[in-house]
Amino acid sequence: MQKIKKGDTVQVIAGNDLGLQGEVMEVKKGWYINRKTQQTKREPNKDRVVVAGVRIVKKHQRPVSQTRTQTGIIEFEAPIHVSNVMLVCPGCAEPVRVKIEIEDGRKRRVCKKCDAVID
Ligand SMILES: [Zn+2]
Repeated sequence: MQKIKKGDTVQVIAGNDLGLQGEVMEVKKGWYINRKTQQTKREPNKDRVVVAGVRIVKKHQRPVSQTRTQTGIIEFEAPIHVSNVMLVCPGCAEPVRVKIEIEDGRKRRVCKKCDAVID
């Protein structure tokens, strides 16, 4: 079970945007495809999240077709690695580690500091 999901509030704990908080817009799971056997494997080294307002980069977007609406210099949030963010607990409003607890056969994320159930 993933500890960070779409819609969570996270805090950046490393890098240029250290200390910034934002909402997770997208979670990108890392996959690895073996070219010979065509098998797909999980690659946790490539697990990334896109956080609103964090790691904003500029890109020079060339107009190619009518379908490409945004052209020129565009700004967007680039994905950062999941290990560089920490979930902000809604109970104690601090970046915390979470544990997984099973209740009635369903997995739930629980704050390790204040034992608040997150979802
Ligand atoms: Zn908490």
